[in-house]
Amino acid sequence: MAKAAVIGSGIGGIAAAIRLAVKGYEVTVFEANATFGGKMTQFTLPGGYRFDAGPSLFTLPHLVDELFSLAGRNPQQYFRYQKLPVVTQYFWPDGTQLTAYANAQDFAQEAEQKLKVRKEHLLRHLQKVARLYHATADTFLHKSLHRVGTYLSSDVLKTLPALPELGLMTTMHAANAQAFEDPRLVQLLDRYATYNGSDPYQAPGTLNLIPHLEFNIGAFYPEGGIYAIAKSLVKLAEELGVKFRYQEPVLEIVISEKKAVAVKTPKGDFPAEVVVSNMDIVPTYRKLIPTQPAPKKTLNQPRSSSALIFYWGIARAFPELDLHNIFFSQDYWQEFEHIFKKNTVADDPTVYVNITSKLSPADAPAGHENWFVMVNVPHNSGQDWGKLIQQTRQSVLKKVSKVLGTDVEQLITTERVWDPKGIEADTSSFAGALYGSSSNNRMAAFLRHPNFSGKIKGLYFVGGSVHPGGGIPLCLLSAKIMGDLVPKVPTTVSA
Ligand code: FAD
Repeated sequence: MAKAAVIGSGIGGIAAAIRLAVKGYEVTVFEANATFGGKMTQFTLPGGYRFDAGPSLFTLPHLVDELFSLAGRNPQQYFRYQKLPVVTQYFWPDGTQLTAYANAQDFAQEAEQKLKVRKEHLLRHLQKVARLYHATADTFLHKSLHRVGTYLSSDVLKTLPALPELGLMTTMHAANAQAFEDPRLVQLLDRYATYNGSDPYQAPGTLNLIPHLEFNIGAFYPEGGIYAIAKSLVKLAEELGVKFRYQEPVLEIVISEKKAVAVKTPKGDFPAEVVVSNMDIVPTYRKLIPTQPAPKKTLNQPRSSSALIFYWGIARAFPELDLHNIFFSQDYWQEFEHIFKKNTVADDPTVYVNITSKLSPADAPAGHENWFVMVNVPHNSGQDWGKLIQQTRQSVLKKVSKVLGTDVEQLITTERVWDPKGIEADTSSFAGALYGSSSNNRMAAFLRHPNFSGKIKGLYFVGGSVHPGGGIPLCLLSAKIMGDLVPKVPTTVSA
């Protein structure tokens, strides 16, 4: 049986392993850590608090379902989720509070009441975004951008007429500011740049399609939290015969005659016909294939932002908060100047608070909540993180305490912090960037590394640092594209 080796068990690596197993490969996943998930992991803190360490927002759940269906299983028997009636609670420094309902009509109604915008205007905007998403997603997200076949497919016929409307020649912020008068609504829409670690003042208007996922399709919550995604997929993978080898880092991809033939680990060489790297693309080149020519332009693309996360056990319940909550900064432009130009954190950053105990009560003791408190920060370039953590902790507490009218610091019963250096050390993500390269220029989408090597046969790439990008749905799509490119194992016909 043809063997496949997958390097890393992030969500992209797990999905890749399932797709290869379905294709007939005997798959082994090598994971440096003691468990699977990469950024999508979980932990508990003393006092009975559970936390999802990384991703918290889940969109496009059908991409997870698809993996179960592909393997001939009923997704519902492995993985359940609910659609959120409210995506996010927004709080502005001027006291405005807005509930972003998942239903576009309700959201537009709420926006008309709280902000300076006409309901019909916002609804027309969301409909336009939906139309453009449908015209472009198949070409740009579901296929390799690096195969001629993509540009010859019939999908391109629906993509081409949409191109002039995509806002490629303007920035997200400029497009939003042109479309809407109210700076709070513009800030809300600009925020979607952070969904792939980018800067709305630099990223092309194309990224304004992201809100479509939340307002027209929905945001979802998996039963048991985000970690349930990785857990249920690993269960499926193991049922399909995939072997997971933990605490076994791959040290080298062995190349012979321009073909990947094995992976080397501290335990020896593991021969394979197909090698898939779920390791960040930069260390994949630098550490696993250092003697091979590297695509410098691609690897030198500016990295995405990272995150500073405070995980707090909170000795009180806040009915005014929901699963996802945003406390906006006063000056969004300054905030992104600090992240992307000054490589530091602004004094008044936007704060995101995720509370899974709202939907999974077992995640915190009764009457308490588990707060995942995140600030977008630059990727690691040697900053004094100890100092930035202390400063940012104070800014966060000041902001959140003011809005909630209570001294939040007094309520913290237990705490853990994850910073860009820690993210890099724990997941091998280059510079601790959450989403590989940023999308801060027009060509960024085309400069992401393809899902295959054009120089080394049998070598493929999945995960957030390669095409089509970071975040759970795009990592799942990277595995889908890889799966479509890998040849099926020939079935041997016995004589
Ligand atoms: P990773 O998660 O990067 O995992 C790679 C794995 O490979 C790791 O387990 C690592 O140990 C292993 N590995 C690396 N090198 C080797 C080697 N040489 N040998 C063996 N194993 C190796 N996305 C969303 O969709 N929604 C969100 O709300 C969201 N929020 C986020 C918040 C935070 C704080 C973070 C950190 C990320 C967030 N993301 C979010 C992004 C999302 O988590 C990632 O895009 C996605 O999980 C990355 O998956 P991946 O497949 O690239 O692998």
